[in-house]
Amino acid sequence: MKAAYYQGDKSFFITDCIPQSPNAHEVRIDVSYCGICGTDIHIYRGHMAERIHPPQVIGHEMSGTVAEMGVGVEGLQIGDPVVVRPLDSCNHCPACKAGHHHICQNLNFIGIDSPGAFQSSWNISAQVLHKLPLGINMEIAALIEPLAVACHDVRLGQIRSGETVVVIGGGPIGMLVSLVAKSKGAKVTLAEVNPFRFDLAQDLGINAINPAEDNLEQYILDITNGAGADAVFEVSGSKSGIEVSTELCRTRGRIIVVAIFPEPQPVNLFKFFWREIQMLGVRVYEPEDYEEAIVLADSQKLPLEKLITSVQPLEALSNAFHSLDTNPNNLKILIKCSD
Ligand SMILES: [Zn+2]
Ligand SMILES: [Zn+2]
Repeated sequence: MKAAYYQGDKSFFITDCIPQSPNAHEVRIDVSYCGICGTDIHIYRGHMAERIHPPQVIGHEMSGTVAEMGVGVEGLQIGDPVVVRPLDSCNHCPACKAGHHHICQNLNFIGIDSPGAFQSSWNISAQVLHKLPLGINMEIAALIEPLAVACHDVRLGQIRSGETVVVIGGGPIGMLVSLVAKSKGAKVTLAEVNPFRFDLAQDLGINAINPAEDNLEQYILDITNGAGADAVFEVSGSKSGIEVSTELCRTRGRIIVVAIFPEPQPVNLFKFFWREIQMLGVRVYEPEDYEEAIVLADSQKLPLEKLITSVQPLEALSNAFHSLDTNPNNLKILIKCSD
């Protein structure tokens, strides 16, 4: 087997290793594909040094098949297609006790806080696996993790059919939130300044606006008879994105904060008070979001294949990270981890 180790300082080394038999309640997976996430790029840029222990295998947006099972594993068979929901919760903190295992106060995010999927063979607890329908496209299946993020965001944002929704930021998650909200019957407008991403959004059937060229606020007021949007998803992580959110939102509308803001940002609290706006944070996913994402991915109802910019071999991992780090004309790069 081959594994790609991140060694810090924007570099990886690829090495041959011997697959280990899984421990009790673990499964060895032949990893088919693993996508590179925005979080992986943060790691690459050295922003998450306190959580990474180089040399370490990272990666969490994977698809694969069961290759070997440890004792005590039930409900799976060799050859089953699976995805990992990469959250390992402590089960005893206040968040876990309240049923919020996905945002456990001692969360081990698999692929960041512990070894991940940029390797051809991966041993992992059977508890975090979701079985996939037979015959599912394994490239598309590697998008289930980010698609589950979008399902969670749209579910917690309580998006209903007919609502006007603005999504600020057209990266992979912004695109997926737009597609999932549209699939619920919402009228979605995506705000994106990058021409490549703007064109891709339109190619995906998403109504896109470039706020650097067109007046986003005026546009939303026009299409809502002066009311404003029912829900605004902030997915850009930018100062201007969170600033405009309060301007776009109707009375008693919702602002859903999806992006990671490393620094505190000023927010127009007067607008909150005046319009009785609600703001909620949303993070990762719960098992039901994974199940919804699996059904959506398998249904082929969403044009998910268009989100994949390229598929590259494990040996090209360094180049793929470099490309995502330096060239915004990329969306999702998948790494083919085994044959
Ligand atoms: Zn991810
Ligand atoms: Zn916990």
